[in-house]
Amino acid sequence: MYAGSIPVLMEDYLERLKKGSLKLYALEDELPAARAVQVRREFIEQETGVQLPVVGSFTIAADRAATKNCENMIGAVQVPLGVAGPLPVRGEYAQGSYYVPLATTEGALVASVNRGCNAISRAGGAETRIIRDGMTRAPVFAARDVPHAKAVCDWVLSHKAQIAEAAESTTSHGQLTGITTSIGGTSVFVRMEFDTKDAMGMNMVTIASSKAAELIGAATGARLIALSGNMCTDKKPAAVNVVLGRGRSVAAGIHLPDPLIREVLKTDARTLADVNTRKNLVGSARAGSLGFNAHAANIVAAIFIACGQDPAHVVEGSLAMTTVDLVDDGVYVAVTLPSLPVGTVGGGTAIDTQKECLRLLGVDGGGDPPGTHAKAFAEIIAGAVLAGELSLIGALGAKHLARAHQQLSR
Ligand code: NAP
Repeated sequence: MYAGSIPVLMEDYLERLKKGSLKLYALEDELPAARAVQVRREFIEQETGVQLPVVGSFTIAADRAATKNCENMIGAVQVPLGVAGPLPVRGEYAQGSYYVPLATTEGALVASVNRGCNAISRAGGAETRIIRDGMTRAPVFAARDVPHAKAVCDWVLSHKAQIAEAAESTTSHGQLTGITTSIGGTSVFVRMEFDTKDAMGMNMVTIASSKAAELIGAATGARLIALSGNMCTDKKPAAVNVVLGRGRSVAAGIHLPDPLIREVLKTDARTLADVNTRKNLVGSARAGSLGFNAHAANIVAAIFIACGQDPAHVVEGSLAMTTVDLVDDGVYVAVTLPSLPVGTVGGGTAIDTQKECLRLLGVDGGGDPPGTHAKAFAEIIAGAVLAGELSLIGALGAKHLARAHQQLSR
C-alpha cells in the first residue's frame, strides 16, 4: 500500500476512473508520474481492448515528460534514429564536424543526406551564417475606427522603450528587438520580435507579449482580442515569415568544383543549375509554393524530432530557398532558411533521448554566452539541409531518384 489513505492498487484507480470520480488527467496529482502513466495506459487498454506493451516500454523519464511535455501520457512512440555525416560546418557559431541525428521512418532519407555530407566534406565544409534572429508574437487589438487604428499604431511605435520594459519584466533572457504594426480595417496587429537566446522562445514571447499587450490596451483604449493574431505567424505557411524572418534566419553555401560534381553526384554543373531553376524556382513559383526547395522539410523534420524541437515548426522550416549559381569551375549551391524556430533549452529539449541528440552536436542546454548554442544548432541544420538539397538535386539530375528509393525503402 501507498502511504496514508491514498489507494495504490491499480484496481482502485481503474475503478475510480471508470466511475468518473477521478479524471484521467488528474492521476499525476495522486501518483508518481511513472505510475500514473502506467495506470492510465492500463485504463485505455481496458476501455479499448487494445494492448499497448510496446508503447508502454520506454526509457525517457516520465516525471518530466508527463508534467512538462505531454498531458495524459500513456507511453512513448519510438522513431528510428540514424546519423548522417560527418558534416563539416564553417559557421560563426558552429565550427567543426558533426554526425547529424535524423529521426525518420522514410527509407533513403538518411542515405541521401549522408551522400550530400560526403560532397560537402570533400568540398571543404559548408559555409553557414545566421542572417537574422528574432522570435515573434503578434497580438490583435480591436480599434473603434480607422483613425483610432492608426493612432494605436502611432502610440506603439513611439513607445517602444516602455513596451520593451513591460515585456522584458517577465523574462531574464528575452529582449524585445523590434516592433512592426499593421492594420486590417479596425483590427490592429502588433508584431513583436524578441531575441530569445538559446530558447526557441514561443512560451517566453507569449508571456512577454501578454504584459506588453496589457500596456498597449490600457494606454490606447484598443481592445485586446487575441494574444496571437496570426501575423506572428506561428505554425502556418506565411509570406511574412519569408520576408521578415522568424526564429533563426540562416543560410548555408558550398562551392562544388566540376570533378567533385561528377564523382560524387554523378552529374554536371549545368544539369544541377537547370534542375534547380526549373524545379525549385520555376516549378515552385508556378505551383504558388512558399518554399523554393527540393525537400528541406524532410531534413528539418528529422532533426526536429531527434532533438526535441516543436515538430509543427517544420511548416516554417519548409519555407527554404535553394539556389545554384554557375561559376567558372562548377557551382555555388546555397540554402536560405528565413524561418527556423529552434532552441537548445526549454520545450522538448530536456527529454532524455532528445537531450542526448543535442549533446551529440555539442549544443545541449544554454550556451556561453547565451544564444550561442541555438545559433550553432541552426547553422548545423542549415548545413544538413544543404546536404539534403545537394543529394536530391544531384539524384534528379543523374536520373537516380527512383532507383535509390526502390533499393532503400521498398
Ligand atoms: P520554455 O521551456 O517555455 O522556456 C524556456 C526558458 O528557459 C526561458 O523562458 C528562460 O527563462 C529559460 N532559460 C534558461 N537558460 C536560457 C538560455 N540560455 N536562453 C534562453 N532561455 C533560457 O521554452 P520556450 O522556448 O519559451 O517555448 C518552447 C515551447 O513552447 C515548446 O514546448 C513549444 O512547443 C511551445 N509553444 C508554445 C506556444 C505558445 O503560444 N505558448 C506556441 C508554440 C509552441 P526566462 O524567460 O525566465 O529567462
